[in-house]
Amino acid sequence: MRKKIKVFDSTGKEVVDEKIRKATLAAMRKVKKPRIQEMETYSRQCRKQNIIDAKDKPYIVGIKWNLGMHLTNDICGKLATQDSYGMGRGVYPKEKYPDIPHDNCHCWDSYVFDNEYFKNNPPSEELIQQVKKDAKYPEFQKWAEEWLKRIKE
Ligand SMILES: [Zn+2]
Repeated sequence: MRKKIKVFDSTGKEVVDEKIRKATLAAMRKVKKPRIQEMETYSRQCRKQNIIDAKDKPYIVGIKWNLGMHLTNDICGKLATQDSYGMGRGVYPKEKYPDIPHDNCHCWDSYVFDNEYFKNNPPSEELIQQVKKDAKYPEFQKWAEEWLKRIKE
């Protein structure tokens, strides 16, 4: 008997739309095993490097665990939602960031910046102009503009 596979979206909610669930599973089955192992190694290396890169950056105060798509509701749901350090849901001090708990973890990390640091060490006008001019990533541009407003408050 085929095991019923559940699919969860990035917020940890079960994907109930049968069309989306079937399309996701079909796409996952098409990926060949050596390719999956290659992606696994690459993903782990990237995530380890993110943690190493954060260590000597005084403006990074934490790392956020973002829940990726999962086949089961596993430990990652807890890692992405618990607030063990009073830094917000899924946020850890950079030296306490959890290890990847299992293979095929599609979660990802993002840095949590210390806005106070940037108030005292504002980004250069050159960098600000560079971000304002670059229309390739409008969502990043919007985020950056709002962030710049926040650190100037
Ligand atoms: Zn995970």
